[in-house]
Amino acid sequence: MKRLVLIVIVIAIPLCPGVRAQSSVDAAIDREIAQLVATYKMLHAAPELSHYEEKTSTFLAAQLRSFGYTVTERVGKYDRPQFNGYGVVAILKNGAGPTVLVRADIDALPVEERNDVPYASKVKAKNDSGQEVSVMHACGHDIHITSLIGTAKVMAALKDQWHGTLVLIGQPAEETVDGARAMLADGLYTRFPKPDFVVGLHDSADYEAGQVAYVPGYAMASSTSVDLTIRGLGGHGSKPEATKDPVVIAAQTVLALQTIISRENSPLDPAVVTVGSIHGGAKRNIIPDEVLLQLTIRTYKEEVRQRILASIERIARGVAAAAGLPDDRAPIMKVIESENAPSLYNDPQLSEKLANAIGKAIGPANVIKSNPLMASEDFGVLNLDHQIPSFYFWLGAMAPEKIAASRKSGKPLPSLHSSLFEPLPEPTLRTGVKAMTTAVLELMKK
Ligand SMILES: [Zn+2]
Ligand SMILES: [Zn+2]
Repeated sequence: MKRLVLIVIVIAIPLCPGVRAQSSVDAAIDREIAQLVATYKMLHAAPELSHYEEKTSTFLAAQLRSFGYTVTERVGKYDRPQFNGYGVVAILKNGAGPTVLVRADIDALPVEERNDVPYASKVKAKNDSGQEVSVMHACGHDIHITSLIGTAKVMAALKDQWHGTLVLIGQPAEETVDGARAMLADGLYTRFPKPDFVVGLHDSADYEAGQVAYVPGYAMASSTSVDLTIRGLGGHGSKPEATKDPVVIAAQTVLALQTIISRENSPLDPAVVTVGSIHGGAKRNIIPDEVLLQLTIRTYKEEVRQRILASIERIARGVAAAAGLPDDRAPIMKVIESENAPSLYNDPQLSEKLANAIGKAIGPANVIKSNPLMASEDFGVLNLDHQIPSFYFWLGAMAPEKIAASRKSGKPLPSLHSSLFEPLPEPTLRTGVKAMTTAVLELMKK
């Protein structure tokens, strides 16, 4: 009888590329996470104000250089020449393919930290006016810097999985919304490769660490700062008939401006007009010559912004004319260009594609479609008025038990910019690096 020889053929089943990429991203993050948490704590204890990010940018540049990136420091030219640009641009070229820019903002805020953690900031520094103030990473830009460092290292380690040109930027002066513009003015898109896609993240006090949230389309509003000087004809407080009182005209103007949103703007176009500051006069019995109103205007659409600005001027001039002021004492309206930020628009298709990829990496239940805000930031500057498809997402940063306790008690958690804003380093940083690396790999994969 012939012996039956059983031959077992083992066929190696290769893992599909997506699974392979994910396991290598996870392994790379596992290797780096302890160091990233240490880096975050170091940065948190050493915050620097907008326009003064010298040590932070030097540290970031050295890190990125050590991973093999070509790094340029001090990128940024402000309108106000007294400020130095501390932007960092790091480039890793990896053959032909798309150019993707990842942005992290690096500045901190004039806030005195009240968190009881060993790495709490005790830093004091001089602000733009020369006053000494406490400084804190109260907006969590230290989470952003650390996530960028982690993404940089993982992308450098996984070079065999992607192609194209990766541009990482450390952007100064986000809180004063002039840093992105300063980097563009200093040749961000002419001296360095102009991106096909722009990606960024911001930590959030509204979501748990481990989660990501995103808003397709308009995600944040444009912000326009306006100074409105209401001029009058001053005189003695006992003799109003000999004056034109700018305090009364300013009061009427503030109320009249409320009709812009309620009566002139379409309810389908979200917009805000806030008079946040009113200053005039020195003494009870003096009618002053002028009163200064300071306003912030928020819109999504540029045409709505333009229409509101025109309405503010028309109404202010009309109220002054009604009070009997001559043309040469009409109100003066000044738009403070250096403080303006465009709206932040996430390309809807790109948003869904990248959110889907991030969902595969961190679990679809951890990716939440969220609502837009009327808050502003200058990330929108980098997509050149919607010309470059971009995606900006929220990175949950709160301990889950804190979110649960806040929901139970109805007491809101300290928000961004609070002296008590306290991100949970792990798993916020792990999720930040994983989500950002996944998004970038999705755009640059072979
Ligand atoms: Zn902020
Ligand atoms: Zn911020």
